[in-house]
Amino acid sequence: MAKSYEAIFENNKKWVASKIADNPEYFHELAKNQNPEYLYIGCSDSRVTAEDMIGAEPGEVFVHRNIANVINTLDMSSTAVIQYAVEHLKVKHIIVCGHYNCGGVKAAMTSQDLGLLNPWLRNIRDVYRLHQAEMDAIEDEAKRYDRLVELNVQEQCINVIKMACVQERYILEEFPVVHGWVFDMRTGKIIDLEIDFEKILKDIQKIYNLTDSDWVMSRKK
Ligand SMILES: [Zn+2]
Repeated sequence: MAKSYEAIFENNKKWVASKIADNPEYFHELAKNQNPEYLYIGCSDSRVTAEDMIGAEPGEVFVHRNIANVINTLDMSSTAVIQYAVEHLKVKHIIVCGHYNCGGVKAAMTSQDLGLLNPWLRNIRDVYRLHQAEMDAIEDEAKRYDRLVELNVQEQCINVIKMACVQERYILEEFPVVHGWVFDMRTGKIIDLEIDFEKILKDIQKIYNLTDSDWVMSRKK
């Protein structure tokens, strides 16, 4: 165990050396600032690495990860990340990326008491309830599991769009655009669920607008 822990620092030394070999100023430049175009919100699953699978370098993606890529209004961590990314980093795209074989989604489909995880996973149980007719109609359990992964991404995208900072920035600047993805670790491919951002924004503003609805929607005109 100690050996594998030490290996991490050896790997770090090799990584530093390789970066400096390519560009002696690499870390000097990296330390200056960050100006990422993307906010990536994904699952904590160790198999779904945000930067690796999209070929991003340090500085290119602002990242938030939690169990089953959930955005809950009472979770200060994810909402603070989104607000900072939108208002200060001015990211152009917000990506919510789920993945098939997600243990968090699977746990939310089972009847068991998981203690502290219960309130977190209830967010996903709520997604099931919102789409219960569609979910119950899928007889194959594996397909139902895959579909809940996709619907969870869709609902978490909506939770991002519910945020006033996202709506207001979009009306003013036409960004950030929210995207829903699913990573299929069985193939390594990313699937874009092609969330209709504009339509969702308009639909949910009737219900979730936290400011003055006419003011918010008329700014773009
Ligand atoms: Zn997961």
